[in-house]
Amino acid sequence: MYDAIVIGARCAGAPVAMLLARQGYRVLLVDKARFPVDIMSGLLVHPRGTALLKRWGVLDDVLATGCPQLHSATFDLGPIELKASFHPVDEVDFTCAPRRYLLDPILVAAAVEAGAEFRDNTTVQELLMDEDGCITGIRARTAQGTTVTEKARIVIGADGVHSFVARTVKPEAYHVNPILSCGYYGFFRDVTVPGPKAYIRPYRFAVCIPTNDNLMLVGAQWPIEDFARIRTDVPTHFYKLMGQIPELATQVRREKQVGRFIGTGHVPNFFHKPYGPGWALVGDAGYHKDPILGQGIADALEDAAMLAKALTRGLSGETIMEEALAEYERERNEICLPQYQIAIQFATLAPPPPDMQTLLSVIAADPEESTRYLGVLQRTVPVAEFFAPEHIASLMARATVSLTA
Ligand SMILES: Cc1cc2nc3c(=O)[nH]c(=O)nc-3n(C[C@H](O)[C@H](O)[C@H](O)COP(=O)(O)OP(=O)(O)OC[C@H]3O[C@@H](n4cnc5c(N)ncnc54)[C@H](O)[C@@H]3O)c2cc1C
Repeated sequence: MYDAIVIGARCAGAPVAMLLARQGYRVLLVDKARFPVDIMSGLLVHPRGTALLKRWGVLDDVLATGCPQLHSATFDLGPIELKASFHPVDEVDFTCAPRRYLLDPILVAAAVEAGAEFRDNTTVQELLMDEDGCITGIRARTAQGTTVTEKARIVIGADGVHSFVARTVKPEAYHVNPILSCGYYGFFRDVTVPGPKAYIRPYRFAVCIPTNDNLMLVGAQWPIEDFARIRTDVPTHFYKLMGQIPELATQVRREKQVGRFIGTGHVPNFFHKPYGPGWALVGDAGYHKDPILGQGIADALEDAAMLAKALTRGLSGETIMEEALAEYERERNEICLPQYQIAIQFATLAPPPPDMQTLLSVIAADPEESTRYLGVLQRTVPVAEFFAPEHIASLMARATVSLTA
């Protein structure tokens, strides 16, 4: 009997397993993938994510993979260019974008070092349930074709956007928004854009993110209505979009691509109630949003920390488990909801209205405000604080002055 079984061993599941094992709990971590292996992901870890990696003692290992430290980000809106330093979190003022086949095994190794048992190549096919409807364990199939049954006090679904656990327990979904965008990305050599850099054009979005091996992840997003058309010929549509951005037109070229295009039109926007009798959800399984702001990895790491804190209180008997998990849901929603709404706004790919363009040009002219605005997007500056009416009024007053000067 385990204290916890964690299904899914990436940036949500592995840290939950690590943090519980560090508290002395008996943890089984399983994943259907054979590690190390890549997963569809844009890679950028916001500074609140790098700060957590540092706190957990794994940041040096991540940087040792050779992914560069990134100290600033640029938003190119055509007429406006906004460049900002990252707002520091626990004195970590940079981000990085490690390949997932490098990052995730580092997190798994930390979980194993803490005492968790890890089994890859193990697909959970059934959740065990007692007569009261409480989840009590898993039935899984190994790569050898054998079926194993394991029991635990709590089963955690860290199994991504298509979560098997969520499909089984059918949690309440809320703040649901329709799918808004679709996207594809590829890896390119010899692209020298100082990334991360996002190019925002009406109903088009492109991004450059420097990663390992001196490669640049170059991504493109379109409205979801275009998905059926784009998926039939991704290279043509991708290079057409690159051709519309002069800085990328000359650099992002077919002959420089390493590997194939990867992408999806299935990026739903929802919150799940993340717990019930004997189960909990974490990471994308519990809360998923359009990847346009690149929040998923840092959110998953932070979510793992919040869930592990709640589970520790529940498993130790300090608090009734249901109350501890209700508190986890409240904390997650309070932290994530404002930025979720911003991600939804960005994911429409609609051009900013004239007032917003004016505001962005004022922000772009002021390095301190630019860093605070970036802090809003990376969730280190509260949305309500930056967009407080008096703050916006003072910024807009500067535009009026410069127009009349
Ligand atoms: C195109 C795209 C670009 C993105 N760009 C960024 C970005 O730049 N920055 C960022 O922060 N985020 C980005 N994201 C989001 C980010 O990748 C996710 O938010 C993050 O991977 C979520 O982590 P997770 O651990 O919750 O789930 P996942 O990483 O999806 O891991 C789930 C794991 O569960 C395992 N699993 C599933 N079912 C089972 C089962 N039945 N049995 C056993 N194991 C199972 C899977 O094998 C997988 O390893 C992007 C996403 C997409 C689609």
